[in-house]
Amino acid sequence: MKAIQYYGPQNIKLEEVMVKPPQDGEVVVKVVSALTCGTDVKTYRRGHPVLIKNIPSGFGHEFSGIVEKIGRGVEKFKPGDRVVAANSAPCGHCFYCRRGEYNLCENLDLLNGAYAEYITVPARIVEKNMLVLPDNLGFDRAAFCEPLANVVHGVERTGINPGNTVGIIGIGPIGLMFARLAKLKGARVILAGRNPIKLKMAEEFSQVDEIVDLNKYPNPEKIFRAFTEEEKGLDIAIECVGLPEIWERIF
Ligand SMILES: [Zn+2]
Ligand SMILES: [Zn+2]
Repeated sequence: MKAIQYYGPQNIKLEEVMVKPPQDGEVVVKVVSALTCGTDVKTYRRGHPVLIKNIPSGFGHEFSGIVEKIGRGVEKFKPGDRVVAANSAPCGHCFYCRRGEYNLCENLDLLNGAYAEYITVPARIVEKNMLVLPDNLGFDRAAFCEPLANVVHGVERTGINPGNTVGIIGIGPIGLMFARLAKLKGARVILAGRNPIKLKMAEEFSQVDEIVDLNKYPNPEKIFRAFTEEEKGLDIAIECVGLPEIWERIF
C-alpha cells in the first residue's frame, strides 16, 4: 500500500509499505477519511516525543474507514463495517487508570498511520475505543470523533448548566467546539482569542454571545482582566490555549 512515513521533523515520505497483517484482536481498516490536527502539524514541524517514539513511523491519527480484515478473537467487528477509532487506549491497570484518570495512563497505546491506504488498529484500541458508525454519519465527520470526544468529556466534567456564563480562552478548533457545545448546554458564552482569521471563524461558527478580541489587551496582565473588568461574572472558565500561565491565573 501507499503510506506516508514519518522520519523526523519536516521529513516525511510517501512510500510503498506492507499492510501489517492483523494479529489476535487487531483490525485492519481501509482508511476513507484522515484529518490533520494541530498535533500533526506540531509533530511535522518539531517532532513529538510521546506520539512518535520510533522512526520511521506511520503518521496521522484521526481517521475513519471500512473494516478490511479482522484478527482472531475479534467479535465486535466484521469486514465491511464502517468504523472510527481513537488514536489511543488506556491500559486499565496503572495508578491513574485505577483512579479513572485514563488520560494520564502511564502505558497508553498510541496509534499513528492514518495517512495510508490501510491502518492496522491494535487490539486494545479495537477493544476499548473503536466504534461502528451510524448509517447517517459520513466518513469525514466521523473522523472528527476523537477531538470532539475530548470536548464532550470536558463539557461533562465542567458541569455546565443552562444559564451559566462560560468564558473560553482560545479559539482553535477545541475552543470553538467548547463554545458550540456550551451553547447547546444553554449557557451564555464569551469567547476570547487573538488570531484575526480565527476570530472571524469564531463569529461564523460558534454562535456565542460575545467575542473578546484579545489584541485589545496588549499587556498580558490585562488579558486576565478581560473577563472580569467588565463584570462578566463567569461561572466557568475554560482554557483552550494550552499555556500553564493561563490556568494558573484564571483558576
Ligand atoms: Zn488529534
Ligand atoms: Zn493506565
